Amino acid sequence: MAETGTGVEEEFTVDRSRLRTMIESLGEGLLVVGSNGRLHTSNPAAERLLGLTHAELLARTPASPFSGAVDASLRPVGQEALPVAVALRTGVPVLGDTLGFRLPTGDLRWLEVSAYPVLGQQPVKPDSVVVLLKDVTAARAEIERGRFQGALLDSAGQAIIATDTAGTIIFWNKAAERIYGWPAQEALGRNVVELIPSALYQAEGVKIFAELAAGRSWTGEFEVRHRDGTSFPAMVTNTPMFDDDGTLTAIIGISSDITERKRTEQVVRRLSAIVESSSDAIVGTDLEGTILSWNGSAERLYGYTAAEATGQDIRMLAPDRGAADDDVSAVLRRIARSESVQGFETVRRRNDGNLVETSLTLSPVYADDGTLIGCSGIARDDTARKQAERALSHQALHDTLTGLPNRALLRDRLEHALAHARGHGERVAVMFLDLDGFKVVNDGLGHQAGDDLLVKVSHRLGANVRPEDTVARFGGDEFVVVCEVESIEAAILAGNRLLAAIEAPFVLAGQDDGEQVSVSASIGLVVADGEAAPEDLLQDADTAMYRAKARGRARLELFDRTWRDTATARLANFTALGRAVERDELRVVYQPVISVADTAPVAVEALVRWQHPERGLVQPNDFIALAEETGLIVSIGRWVLRAALRERARWQAALPNQAPLRLAVNLSARQLSDPDLRDDVVAALAEFGATPDSLILEITESVLMLDVGSYMTLHALRNLGVSLHVDDFGTGYSSLAHLKDLPVDALKIDKSFVDGLGTGDADRSLVAAVIAMAGALCLEVIAEGVETELQLSVLRELQCGHAQGFLFARPMAYDDLVGWLGAPDRPGATIPAPRSPREPSGATPTGLIR
Ligand code: C2E
Ligand code: MG
Ligand code: MG
Repeated sequence: MAETGTGVEEEFTVDRSRLRTMIESLGEGLLVVGSNGRLHTSNPAAERLLGLTHAELLARTPASPFSGAVDASLRPVGQEALPVAVALRTGVPVLGDTLGFRLPTGDLRWLEVSAYPVLGQQPVKPDSVVVLLKDVTAARAEIERGRFQGALLDSAGQAIIATDTAGTIIFWNKAAERIYGWPAQEALGRNVVELIPSALYQAEGVKIFAELAAGRSWTGEFEVRHRDGTSFPAMVTNTPMFDDDGTLTAIIGISSDITERKRTEQVVRRLSAIVESSSDAIVGTDLEGTILSWNGSAERLYGYTAAEATGQDIRMLAPDRGAADDDVSAVLRRIARSESVQGFETVRRRNDGNLVETSLTLSPVYADDGTLIGCSGIARDDTARKQAERALSHQALHDTLTGLPNRALLRDRLEHALAHARGHGERVAVMFLDLDGFKVVNDGLGHQAGDDLLVKVSHRLGANVRPEDTVARFGGDEFVVVCEVESIEAAILAGNRLLAAIEAPFVLAGQDDGEQVSVSASIGLVVADGEAAPEDLLQDADTAMYRAKARGRARLELFDRTWRDTATARLANFTALGRAVERDELRVVYQPVISVADTAPVAVEALVRWQHPERGLVQPNDFIALAEETGLIVSIGRWVLRAALRERARWQAALPNQAPLRLAVNLSARQLSDPDLRDDVVAALAEFGATPDSLILEITESVLMLDVGSYMTLHALRNLGVSLHVDDFGTGYSSLAHLKDLPVDALKIDKSFVDGLGTGDADRSLVAAVIAMAGALCLEVIAEGVETELQLSVLRELQCGHAQGFLFARPMAYDDLVGWLGAPDRPGATIPAPRSPREPSGATPTGLIR
């Protein structure tokens, strides 16, 4: 201790040495500061606390030893506010002010400073101040630590609750207030049971407590109770606290409200249940294509388990890496642009190596904060649907019976063949093939056999072309073969091979053992370069096929370019002919049939003409064939029948004294297959007051190769009482023997046989034979196309019953017919009339009989 030696000691009345001893031994620091702020005395404790020697303390004056002090909030304290200054200024003691002092070592020391003013003679103004210093650094640190810990615990997001072993709550942080609803002051002292539903406590309490007592913390999820009585799920970790003796003293429970997490978990669980139970494969990947999730349907669809697939690159499903790699990458690029991909159809390879056709819907997946994190894909197995689609489109493009391409596909193939031929300088052959006599098989042996024949024909055609050629079914018994050829000769060879293949006998469904059917085919062939139009080729091959039929069937006919004009004209005709009936452009002319004996008329044949608006009068040879091919003949024939019957009624009324003449009307084969024919005939007869026996229907010889339906129709007509005559007899194939089975009454010997009568023996003996056999079958005979007296005389000799020809009368328009019939000098005429019969064409009639 040092001493200033100034007047302070003189003022003390106590023993100086005792005072000194007392001051020096004081545990607390003591300073005496004069009114001028100068230090008088310092004890060793003060020097130690401030880290300064007495001399150093003296050196600080008059600024006082407290300069550099800071207060409890660690702010520097101004000289005026320091306890010494306050006590000197006010004369009032300052008690226990905590100040921090920066020691010369740099450490901060907290001192509790009390300043006691010492009053002198002047009572208001203190002489000096006694300052006591107490070290509170340790206590202060303790407080700081406690504050820090409390703040720390309070700042925790989780509820931190401590209880003693009886369950009494001894600590409760801010988060606990928030989560459980109790303010700390209300929570402290309560029992923790109030937070926990009893059921859990009963079930788990003992077990949990045993865990804690054993020194282990316990973590679990359970329902806890809020102050308002509601309960919510919490995740709780309880940790035991032991004292130094190892006795359990407290339990610290850290809990958090997991309602939100539970809800999310539940949503996720529900979602994943939906995903799992979905019949679609649902796969999640990251943006690079690494598989993250894989549901049960994905396992079934692709054959990889979730464990096998997860972590793999989705490209493992690409059927061949490379091409399909690109489709995955392309899709992922779109996902990366936040686009969705709908109905993306692609092929994937299963684990077992098989391919599966899939339709994919892919969507970007976002995290909660909106960042794009991956891709979810829904895949549907499209194999079955695709197969059905393919079957449907196969059906749309193929014939059901034979499985061959149909017309639509044929057209497509033909176009391809033409395009290919264009590129390679090759030629394309189109063969139009029509079976001969298919109707006979179909009607005679039944549809099943007919179908079977078509199937077998299709097989034979297929077996006799190259694989790259096309065999198509065009319709009915028509087939079209398309092949690329080097030359016309090669095409003809190919066509002949097909003809031969079809001519070998067939054994058909429903036939008895050993029974066989033979058919032939007519083929029309056209060969063209790649520039030709598909439609033209089909049309030309069709025309050539008709030519093959006309030339005797079972043959191949090569299309001739010069026919095309005819064909084009026919097409134009067809269109016009289709309108001829409705536009009333058809006319009927009449040619009498006479009795050879006396040349008196016995009948009149109705022959159709077409009064074309531009082309004038068109002869039947120029349009009947077309009408037959196209079916127009049915309506034309119906019209002719009615028109002729109407006019017959008129001329009978006009010539009341004449014996009624029978009317002959030509029927085509097509009309015979018309189911309404019989009814039409009955109706027409009734309408125009004619009896059935006054009507003759002429059928050409080719009709005699009848199908069943037509055969029935013939019988029905015959049963009505209508006569049936075979026209153009001798030009077809029918044998006389065949005739006896048919319900016919007469034969009209074709003009080609009559032509040679009187000029050579051959025709005479032929006609003689026909007349003899007809007689044996009780059939009448009519000679057609008689033009000369010579022919007539031969017919007389051969005792031919009737004849028809320009020698007697040309076909005449109605008015001319009436005139002819009424002519007085006509054989068999009863009423004389002027005779000037003329065809409407204006042709001058010649060779009329007198
Ligand atoms: P068709 O029934 O054999 O008719 C006889 C054809 O021979 C008629 O020709 C007739 O004018 C002709 N003709 C008759 N006598 C002579 C003669 O002395 N010399 C020559 N050179 N010819 C003679 P058209 O009228 O041109 O008829 C041709 C064919 O057209 C007919 O042959 C018949 O098959 C068919 N036809 C005519 N009208 C119809 C009809 O309404 N329906 C059907 N389905 N066919 C008809
Ligand atoms: Mg006729
Ligand atoms: Mg004829």
